[in-house]
Amino acid sequence: MSLGTSENNYELVSGLEIHVQLNTNTKIFSADSASFGALPNQNISTVSLALPGALPKLNKEVVAKAIRIGLALNCNINQVNHFDRKNYFYADLPKGYQITQDNQPICINGFLELQLADGSTKKIGINRIHLEEDAGKSIHDQDDNYSLVDLNRAGVPLIEIVTEPDIRSSEEASVLLSEIRKLVRHLNVSDGNMEEGSLRCDANISIRPQGTTEFGTRCEVKNLNSMRNVRRAMDFEFGRQVEVINNGGRIIQSTLNFDADKGTTSPMRTKEEANDYRYFSDPDLQPIHISDEWLAEIKSLMPALPNEISKQMIAEFGISKADAALFAEDLDLLNYFNEAQSLVNNKKSLINWLIGPIRAVLNEKGIAITDFNVNPPQLAEAINLVDDKKITQQIAIQQLLPALEQQGNTNVTDLAQSLNLLISENGDELSGFIDEVLNKYPQQVDAYKKGKKGVLGLFVGDVMKLAKGKADAKKLNELILEKLK
Ligand code: ADP
Ligand code: MG
Repeated sequence: MSLGTSENNYELVSGLEIHVQLNTNTKIFSADSASFGALPNQNISTVSLALPGALPKLNKEVVAKAIRIGLALNCNINQVNHFDRKNYFYADLPKGYQITQDNQPICINGFLELQLADGSTKKIGINRIHLEEDAGKSIHDQDDNYSLVDLNRAGVPLIEIVTEPDIRSSEEASVLLSEIRKLVRHLNVSDGNMEEGSLRCDANISIRPQGTTEFGTRCEVKNLNSMRNVRRAMDFEFGRQVEVINNGGRIIQSTLNFDADKGTTSPMRTKEEANDYRYFSDPDLQPIHISDEWLAEIKSLMPALPNEISKQMIAEFGISKADAALFAEDLDLLNYFNEAQSLVNNKKSLINWLIGPIRAVLNEKGIAITDFNVNPPQLAEAINLVDDKKITQQIAIQQLLPALEQQGNTNVTDLAQSLNLLISENGDELSGFIDEVLNKYPQQVDAYKKGKKGVLGLFVGDVMKLAKGKADAKKLNELILEKLK
């Protein structure tokens, strides 16, 4: 494409429709398991199969999770809302309609503030969040003659988060998605796994001349299932629309597929062919009434959000934004920190340990902090030993921690003692080592006395070796200097 500078004359405008699969145990309207990965058609009762007379019954946990994410996205909660039927025919939709929310969704009018790479912030409006059920899955590539249908997914709970058309670049879109993924995980609303389809989005894209305010005609790219594909689809579609306009054409409102192999979009259907879903409120389900008490209870149980945690840690401990993000984005690490912090003498030490040596150990073993076999009180005690100069940091990391990992639930100081890892408090022993080393190097001692102070390092190193590292370097220095006087 010969786009060159002409792309600079246009601005991208986009709004996302983000589908999030909720991580409830059971489906939205039945007691069928909502888990991923079961054998085909294992999780299907009369409701999922839509047998005549089967009635839906709302899973309260679904509503609670939608409210949590709505609160985190600064939405108003519609305390009275209801379900609608969206009618269409497809083999993986046995009812002939999807239960969703049309004109009275559970959450409206929110926003999310993004932190962009250049340090600026950008506020993206959230138009609405609605509840709906997922459809089943049609499988077209496993049999030569038939399409197969797996209804395990039919009735799995989803929320759809619809943003305002406030997005102006593919970077903003991917930051928005990764923020949403972070939030749904943080709030234990969804696993946010894009590969398994727990988080997927449709991107509505239009362009307009730079500096103008009117919106152009949009196209909707369906079913983007990775952060990278969202960026690629958006960049491609932007370029395509600019080219159409530059060639004197016009954009026809349409729904597009994204081909991840080619990196291109192609039409599925145009507005004229769009389905008329004939929405109407579902007579099988009562409107949802969210009481003031329940809403207050959900609010009171909300954890601090990642951005708040980050700000608080920066303010309290003076750590960098990047370090704070490690805690804000990893609830397990934060919980570990919280459990240990009241037990350490120096909280900043604890932070440094967790983001330094402990992280290195975990990375090396390829395990999560939840699988680390040294519990928070044990780590706190080990850190206190180091801070109190009872053990060197090096020995604590290289010997004490591995021993603790092996032994599990033991007393830290006792273990360090039994392994003979504590700094020798026996001044006589150290003194003996120093004499031994100084006797070994008569010439260097002489040189030192004549002003060649550099040889001190040699003495310290050798004594340290004899002490098997179990000496406080500063104290050792002082003792040697004393003897050299
Ligand atoms: P519909 O009801 O047809 O689905 P909505 O108004 O609900 O349309 O918008 C769907 C999505 O499209 C929203 O995310 C919205 O931000 C986005 N959108 C609307 N108009 C435009 C536009 N001109 N360009 C890009 N995105 C748009
Ligand atoms: Mg809409």
